[in-house]
Amino acid sequence: MKNILILGSTGSIGVNTLNVVRAYPDRFKVEGLTVNTNIDLLEQQIKEFRPSLAVVRDTLAAKELRKRITSGCEILQGEEGLLEAARRGNYDILVGALVGFAGLAPTIEGIKLSKRIALANKETLVVAGELVTRLCREYNSELIPVDSEHSAIFQCLVGEKHEEVEKLILTASGGPFLNRNSEALKNVTVSEALNHPNWKMGSKVTIDSASMMNKGLEVIEARWLFGLPKEKIDVVVHPQSIVHSMVEFVDGSIKAQMGLPDMKLPIQYALCYPERLVSKNRKTNLASVKTLTFQEPDLRKFECLRLAYEVMDCGGTAPCIMNAANEIAVGKFLEGKIKFIEIPRIIEKSLSSIENHRSPDIDVIYECDRKTRQYARNLF
Ligand code: MG
Repeated sequence: MKNILILGSTGSIGVNTLNVVRAYPDRFKVEGLTVNTNIDLLEQQIKEFRPSLAVVRDTLAAKELRKRITSGCEILQGEEGLLEAARRGNYDILVGALVGFAGLAPTIEGIKLSKRIALANKETLVVAGELVTRLCREYNSELIPVDSEHSAIFQCLVGEKHEEVEKLILTASGGPFLNRNSEALKNVTVSEALNHPNWKMGSKVTIDSASMMNKGLEVIEARWLFGLPKEKIDVVVHPQSIVHSMVEFVDGSIKAQMGLPDMKLPIQYALCYPERLVSKNRKTNLASVKTLTFQEPDLRKFECLRLAYEVMDCGGTAPCIMNAANEIAVGKFLEGKIKFIEIPRIIEKSLSSIENHRSPDIDVIYECDRKTRQYARNLF
């Protein structure tokens, strides 16, 4: 029986993690749940999964929840509550499913307790990959990816030697705008960008998929997770989202991990690795999929992906600047304040205006994130 702390239990990864827990009640127990504001869903989750602890980041919402849940579950609040939940340590696995930069600090608390980290929060590695992977080695904490692409690569690497890896090949669906030209990209609407062909996800990551920033973040994430330079990390567009990613070895052999696009699989793999659980989900029927296609990504059209590769050359706090500017830009796009094609403009301007620091510590990263957001908010 494994005890689980889920950071971000009402988002799509959090909900799917609870689906896995529900399917294997003899394997997992929920120790703690955290949310930003969605206490209606959290209340149901508390009643069903009976965690000993819940955290609501919004203090007013926390107060309201305390009126509804009067016993059996301690309710903490705010940023401090989130850190406290991670620090208590009465769990085996921390599922890091918060959206954005907020996932970093509590994840570090889990690492310092040598816990297994099932990581779905990309930004943790994008903004602080060097620091986080160093801490994992220092505290002997296992970092198992939940993102489908990284889970695929992780699975392909089991039993292989690091020095025999030629390159990693991340697949990308290409999102809803794969077949639109740059001209048509100028006037896309929010609802068109939110209409992802294969995956049901939260709005931030769905917009990132449409701009291919999501793949850019994943390339940076892969670099830290698997310890390879950017020259050894390729992206290939694969619209069917059946091949979740691949690894090419020095002898020319390529291993791929395939399956239907369903996050429950990488989640349960991260929870149970090195074991595999017998699946209760539908299996992949390749005959009904029929065709798998692959093509080069268009870096002129998907500028965010190009920017992510450039940022890896700069190193230091450049990925942090890119990430913060992107979060602000995506927020503005969702509110209808900027055009879709202005997202990369905001990132570019931020990268050229905010100073890049080499080998940043956590305080420098926080300061850089704060400065960039303030700067990006005032653009456009
Ligand atoms: Mg992914």
